[in-house]
Amino acid sequence: MRIGILGGGQLGRMLALAGYPLGLSFRFLDPSPEACAGQVGELVVGGFLEEGALARFAEGLDLVTYEFENVPVEAVRFLAGRLPIYPPPQALAEAQDRLREKAFMQSLGVPTPPFHPVETLEDLKVGLEATGLPALLKTRRGGYDGKNQILIRREEEAERAFWALGGRGLILEGYVAFDREVALLSVRGQGGEVVFYPLVENRHEGGILRLSLAPAPGVSEALQRKAEDYARRALMALDYTGVLALEFFQVGEELLFNEMAPRVHNSGHWTIEGAETSQFENHLRALLGLPLGSTAPRGRSAMVNLIGVKPNVAQVLALSGAHLHWYGKEVRPGRKVGHITLRRDTWEGLAQDLSHLLALAQAAEPV
Ligand code: AMP
Repeated sequence: MRIGILGGGQLGRMLALAGYPLGLSFRFLDPSPEACAGQVGELVVGGFLEEGALARFAEGLDLVTYEFENVPVEAVRFLAGRLPIYPPPQALAEAQDRLREKAFMQSLGVPTPPFHPVETLEDLKVGLEATGLPALLKTRRGGYDGKNQILIRREEEAERAFWALGGRGLILEGYVAFDREVALLSVRGQGGEVVFYPLVENRHEGGILRLSLAPAPGVSEALQRKAEDYARRALMALDYTGVLALEFFQVGEELLFNEMAPRVHNSGHWTIEGAETSQFENHLRALLGLPLGSTAPRGRSAMVNLIGVKPNVAQVLALSGAHLHWYGKEVRPGRKVGHITLRRDTWEGLAQDLSHLLALAQAAEPV
């Protein structure tokens, strides 16, 4: 089986690395000749809207998936006319737009932070009256890792934020004083079977995911079930196949939906070593109509992103239970270039080395 992946970043790379033991082969489409998945599979270099590149990419594939959600929906529709494509294009369309995804989840009865579409300054004024301050103004599209959003603390800041974000296509959200951020990764197979990983606790810095703890400590059975119930509604409504990631704000025992990603996700990288079956393998199993693998955690895991730094490899690997994933990307400030998972049987065993690991993950080494 030859699988086509739209996008050639680290998610595509890790999908391929999980798929080789299953006897699969991979082709990527990416506008950059440097795309790091090209180191582990065939890379077609071309824009997502270039018909010639799309046709070369599609030639001889058995099915198509994607590894980042800002693939133009037109490209997905073009391919969908020729090949099976999973997850469904509608999921991509919802996830590309912060307003649509929140309205979609709200329509399924899933709680969200208060939100308002903003196309004019008047909309912003009305929205702020409803949300109160502080509030977050975000672009509906294109933002990721905390980009394209501005915190409005005082009314006088609103107009500047509006223009700084382009003055249209915006969403205003009430600021949620959450206890923590958690994510749920779910997988739905072609026959409709569904499995869930345990909730993960995510810690961000500057809007970028820095650390995941999995399973999230202190999650009640009821909270896990609530997250699964919310995810199941989305999976059913979209007739979904593959991995779906949902991010929530936890406030007490409540979960407010923040974002969805219709793909494998950074919050699931820990599953490579920390779960019986990784998110990458389960995504492929789902696409191929194969039985889904167990999502049971193996002990406790902490996943630390490497952001703009190359750590000392020997020092990292000297920590028992540490696993390095280097993506083969050029190191640049603010860029995710790898991650490390520290896996142990218990949190007690992990906590001490985690602070050491976090220090190593900050320490740049000349490259
Ligand atoms: P986003 O790209 O929309 O997920 O936002 C990036 C990060 O900003 C989130 O992971 C949160 O840490 C923070 N954030 C986003 N929306 C809100 C909100 N409504 N209230 C509080 N924090 C938020």
